[in-house]
Amino acid sequence: MSTVRVRFAPSPTGALHIGGLRTALYNYLYARQRGGTFILRIEDTDQKRYVPGAEEYILESLNWAGITPDEGPGIGGGHGPYRQSERRDTYRKYTQHLLDAGQAYYAFDTEAALEQRRADEKAAGNHNFRYDASTREGMRNSLSLGKEETQRLLDQDTPYVVRLRVDPGQTVHIRDIVRGDVAFQSEEVDDKVLMKADGLPTYHLANVVDDHLMAISHVIRGEEWLPSTALHVLLYRAFGWEKTMPEFAHLPLLLKPNGKGKLSKRDGQQLGIPVFPLDWKPDSTEEKLMGFREAGFLPQSTINFLAFLGWNPGTEQEIFSLPELVEAFDLDRINKSGAQYDFEKARWYNQQYLIASADDELAPLVQQQFADHGRAITTAQATRIAGLLKERVHTLEEFYPQGRYFTERVGITDEKMARKKWKSEQRPAFEELRDRLAALPEWEAAKIKAATVAFMKEHNLGFGAVLPVLRLAVSGTTNGPDAFAILETVGQEETVARLGVGYEAMEELAGRE
Ligand code: GLU
Repeated sequence: MSTVRVRFAPSPTGALHIGGLRTALYNYLYARQRGGTFILRIEDTDQKRYVPGAEEYILESLNWAGITPDEGPGIGGGHGPYRQSERRDTYRKYTQHLLDAGQAYYAFDTEAALEQRRADEKAAGNHNFRYDASTREGMRNSLSLGKEETQRLLDQDTPYVVRLRVDPGQTVHIRDIVRGDVAFQSEEVDDKVLMKADGLPTYHLANVVDDHLMAISHVIRGEEWLPSTALHVLLYRAFGWEKTMPEFAHLPLLLKPNGKGKLSKRDGQQLGIPVFPLDWKPDSTEEKLMGFREAGFLPQSTINFLAFLGWNPGTEQEIFSLPELVEAFDLDRINKSGAQYDFEKARWYNQQYLIASADDELAPLVQQQFADHGRAITTAQATRIAGLLKERVHTLEEFYPQGRYFTERVGITDEKMARKKWKSEQRPAFEELRDRLAALPEWEAAKIKAATVAFMKEHNLGFGAVLPVLRLAVSGTTNGPDAFAILETVGQEETVARLGVGYEAMEELAGRE
């Protein structure tokens, strides 16, 4: 039985896109299900695109989502180092192997010479100049210049790159678990640069060498890498590693919410929805990118939502905890076609998880939301608010705006309703109700209700006349959870005070008609 070893291999070039987190998730699920190993490898050899803080962001995102790697930078493992910038000697060594075996060659062409050649070709009507078997003779490389001249140039420290020698006439078969068999002709692949003039490997070389040395069994990554896979197979072939080549599974693209085109970073900004796991604001010049965490999503619901973007269990069940996903996940059930990024679905998932969460579990999160708005509330208050509001919100962020009135006087927000419900002639009765509530020896929803019902009977008033007035005075609106539960949570003294202020405000509103 072969051992499953999979890797998530992000480049630290900025915030990790939510599609990247999905790739990490699918790798994690597959590893866990097969009793395998989930590896994090940081592909940071492109120095021009390196962004400080991005690696930390990736790690924090994985931690938040609860999909932590078994091997990786700062974690350890038997196949490190796991940061490609720390593996330069390895890439140099393997490039030398290819050079020695005649599978790769030195190319001394300067940028200017390449530009010139492209321009000449263009002038002659050829817009797609490619450095390959059909053109390499006319370029300055170890194949066209011969051994001696090559040595002379190397001795003179002439800058060079190393290119893969792609021989025409080869058929490359890729067996992709998601897409089925894909075939390429080697003529479609140019002599790609493997080692750049700065002595650092390109993505392709480092990726293949590391997948081999880290004994990766399955490469699970985004569909955008499918075209590169032909080159990767040729590289495995050149190294003589084709027999132990990993299997491939290319994941479908994430599409915009309207299904038209690829989901981009700009869609998040334009639609005001998160397309990143966490907020990202590396410096003051950049616009802040919104994250699921800060938008009030629970990690479990985000994961559940992401799992379904490109996969389904083949049953009606939609709610899956992480262990349940591990159990149900299968590479064979990944869809070929793009997955529409339905943000409403993400909100729905989050609501389901909020409802299913215990009130005391939510309490610290609710407390944090209030604290973010400068309101300190106790754990007991937060637990109550969580219980009363969790069915009415979709995200943690909504707890404060929906529940502000629990901790502050918000005034009458629904003025129209106040005008409709306040009857000046009933004011003496409502004053009496206030006095009765003020005198209640025990402040508890059931007791408040009993006192209110007794009052209603005596005054021949119905719920429809009394409850809206109480609600408006205490919470500013007639919406919300159970009125007596609100009063209990607001507290006796504060309720009584608000009734006084509220009656006055409603009287005034009614008078202004
Ligand atoms: N470094 C590549 C990326 O940023 C990795 C692609 C792959 O998984 O091979 O997505």
